[in-house]
Amino acid sequence: MMILGIEGTAHTLGVGIVDDSGSVLANIIKSYPAEEGIHPREAANHHAANVVDCISEALSTAGLEHGEIGVVAFSQGPGLGPCLRTVATAARALSLRLKIPLVGVNHCIAHLEIGRLRTDAKDPILLYVSGGNTQVIAYTRGKYRVFGETLDIGLGNMLDKFGRAHGIPFPAGPVIEKKALNGGTLLELPYSVKGMDVSFSGMLTAALKLDEPLEDICFSIQETSFSMLAEVTERALAHTRKNEVLLGGGVVRNNRLREMIDIMASERGASAYVPEGEFCVDNGAMIAWTGFLMHEAGMSLPVKGSHIRQNYRTDDVKILWRKVTKDF
Ligand code: AMP
Ligand code: MG
Repeated sequence: MMILGIEGTAHTLGVGIVDDSGSVLANIIKSYPAEEGIHPREAANHHAANVVDCISEALSTAGLEHGEIGVVAFSQGPGLGPCLRTVATAARALSLRLKIPLVGVNHCIAHLEIGRLRTDAKDPILLYVSGGNTQVIAYTRGKYRVFGETLDIGLGNMLDKFGRAHGIPFPAGPVIEKKALNGGTLLELPYSVKGMDVSFSGMLTAALKLDEPLEDICFSIQETSFSMLAEVTERALAHTRKNEVLLGGGVVRNNRLREMIDIMASERGASAYVPEGEFCVDNGAMIAWTGFLMHEAGMSLPVKGSHIRQNYRTDDVKILWRKVTKDF
């Protein structure tokens, strides 16, 4: 069976096609250029203008006709309302036209499932760090539970806001990473870990006030924020007694973050995994694959009940496609 998945929670529109063995036949990614930050309605217009072409491109890349698709999945949330509504409409239209089941997928869970598909991680702690999200997620007793998360903005968002103030275009993360390589003085910034949660807006305010070389500020932002993430990820490993860390989200393209997580994992005898870049960022293949798992578990939706869920919580989803464990 072939499954087509449409991603559109924020600035990225993605259409992916996978088969039921987990082969990815197409993964078309088209991002709205968010230089001035993401304007939800404009991003939604971008998705509306491109979704039909992206679907056609995915089908031709996979060498398939519309009629060969057996299930259509879409990112149901969390995300920006106008963007979610646009891709949900496209998915509903395909479902009705082709008379195929419709599956609504939780975006954060899709990052975890595509990582399990594309790497050797089997039962990992997911450190998911993107523009809008920062969460530490793991499977326990029938659900993907959030062990820690940002209390305010996502780390990527903090990097992009800092970058914008210094004339660095979106996405600022890669430029900050390069500048940090030439920095070396660790400047004091708020290290905000509250239990298992983190927060970044205080660090942003403090970093914007610093009158120091930009390279040193970039270096200090990275060292401080990535240490915070390593700390809560390590605690989640210890608490759940798991021994795998999986990275997901655009920020995990950062080599220093990967290095710090690798060191933390190896010091405690755990393994760290990162999927290929196209599967770290928002993409349609992760929606298609998670949609397939959900469909097999009987979790498709009637079109009438397929409303979007802007604040869709990771732990709202019953994970019927995994064996319930009796661990933590
Ligand atoms: P996503 O929201 O998953 O599409 O990821 C986009 C976010 O990842 C943006 O906030 C980028 O600034 C950030 N990002 C991309 N590459 C890097 C990098 N090398 N280092 C840090 N952040 C990055
Ligand atoms: Mg994402």
